[in-house]
Amino acid sequence: MSVASKTSTKKRFLQFLAHKKLRITSQRQAIADTVFDTDEHFTAEQLLEWSRGRDKSVSRATVYRTLPLLTESGLVREMDFGKDYKFYDPNYAEHPNHNHLICQDCEKIVEFESEKIERIENEITHKLGFSLKSQRLQITGTCEELKKLGACKKKC
Ligand SMILES: [Zn+2]
Ligand SMILES: [Zn+2]
Repeated sequence: MSVASKTSTKKRFLQFLAHKKLRITSQRQAIADTVFDTDEHFTAEQLLEWSRGRDKSVSRATVYRTLPLLTESGLVREMDFGKDYKFYDPNYAEHPNHNHLICQDCEKIVEFESEKIERIENEITHKLGFSLKSQRLQITGTCEELKKLGACKKKC
């Protein structure tokens, strides 16, 4: 995502907080800066670690309270890959139709878009008398490093 659109997505989130009459504390600001500054998908614990890199005062409780606000704002999407924890997608606002691959071992996440898949989804939806509102495709696999090296670099 471009820097300009990241900045405007962050602004939209801060406006969302203001609209809900929630204070934009320095902790929340640090969390928002972190979320809308990365293209990587993250877990709550990762977000905590990264946000603390910006502002040491960020607490676990604030991160866990801010995550539902992020998803409620519609700018971040929560993703369930069947693990004990969820992943969060900061690129949702800009690319609502992208799909994900995840490595079952190191949890590396790769995004992809495919016109072909979109066409098929539209076709199926249409055929069954529905109209498409949203879609998500998640593929679990093993990454190339695991195949080649027998281990994932990300995990080491
Ligand atoms: Zn994504
Ligand atoms: Zn891997």
